[in-house]
Amino acid sequence: MDDTTPKVSPVPILRCRNRECKTWIREEMVSGDSPGCPLCKGEMIRSIKHLPKLVNKVKAPQKAEVQAEPVQV
Ligand SMILES: [Zn+2]
Repeated sequence: MDDTTPKVSPVPILRCRNRECKTWIREEMVSGDSPGCPLCKGEMIRSIKHLPKLVNKVKAPQKAEVQAEPVQV
């Protein structure tokens, strides 16, 4: 058994219609109508992307405690 393979599931996304623009957004991140591409303002079309399953909503990783370096003055 290979447990290291991330499990992916089909996720509805919106992706930019412009082929040269690789922008895509999870549909769940979009509120309301499709907002248009944030980069090229192009049209966004619905699509499906296979993504690793989200494990809850992970907050930004806590910053490791900043070690104050002694400042030589
Ligand atoms: Zn775009």
